[in-house]
Amino acid sequence: MSINHQARKRFGQNFLVDQQIIGQIVSAINPKVDDNLVEIGPGRAAITEHLIKLCPAMSVLELDRDLVEFLGEKFVDYEEFTIHSGDALKTDFSQLYDNRELRLVGNLPYNISTPLLFHLLNVRHLIKDMHFMLQREVVDRIGAAPGTKAYGRLSVMIQYHCRVSPLIPVPPESFRPAPRVQSAVVRLKPHKTMPWVCDNEALLSNVVSQCFQQRRKTLRNCLRPLTDDLDSAAEIIDLSRRAEQLSVAEFVELTNSINKSRQPL
Ligand code: SAH
Repeated sequence: MSINHQARKRFGQNFLVDQQIIGQIVSAINPKVDDNLVEIGPGRAAITEHLIKLCPAMSVLELDRDLVEFLGEKFVDYEEFTIHSGDALKTDFSQLYDNRELRLVGNLPYNISTPLLFHLLNVRHLIKDMHFMLQREVVDRIGAAPGTKAYGRLSVMIQYHCRVSPLIPVPPESFRPAPRVQSAVVRLKPHKTMPWVCDNEALLSNVVSQCFQQRRKTLRNCLRPLTDDLDSAAEIIDLSRRAEQLSVAEFVELTNSINKSRQPL
């Protein structure tokens, strides 16, 4: 089956073939035998076959049923190995938590990477770390600092929840078929102690989206649809600034102030 299986575009299949890169990814993950290690989209097991030697009780989550069958046959001798057949976007990852924090890894289909990251942030308190292969441009955006072109909603929301470490740049030739874009592996480690105190995370998400919707607009203009009382916010943050100049900490302060002014006294 493995030989005949054609890479499927609709499943975002670009299989890793570069053994040097695979080795670097496995060392970066550094799996331990007792880890609650879950690989999303294992495909033909390019990374899995190395991970499983270090962590035989790992599990995988794969959407393509042909590959699920292939994986079952390939790892039939690993009795503690678990295969979940399904869509990562619809998976309740809290079900995979078993008093051991999740360690998630994956060379993800690039079309689902952003929604999947947001899906996973909902359970960030159950996650020890994540190592994902993403489009390099997405990794740049996730790790971007204020004042840079790449800085936006994705940077603020991911950095609010996680420490971001871009690790390994990966060229298109490392995959079959080769994707049209550059890739990179990033490590995301959810903060154990939050570096900031946000009183209303849903509002933070709203404020950040609203402020980046039109990057060239001032914060004051962006925020008007959210609230008509910006007086106390203006005391904390100069609202003639633009979203791309605000640090994550400042977005949190801004949100807390709007949150307070919206509450009945
Ligand atoms: N990790 C492998 C495969 C990468 S290709 C490697 O590096 O070679 C991406 C993999 O994700 C494919 O196996 C594809 O079938 C799987 N996949 C695609 N969409 C998925 C989803 N929504 N949930 C889980 N797996 C998915």
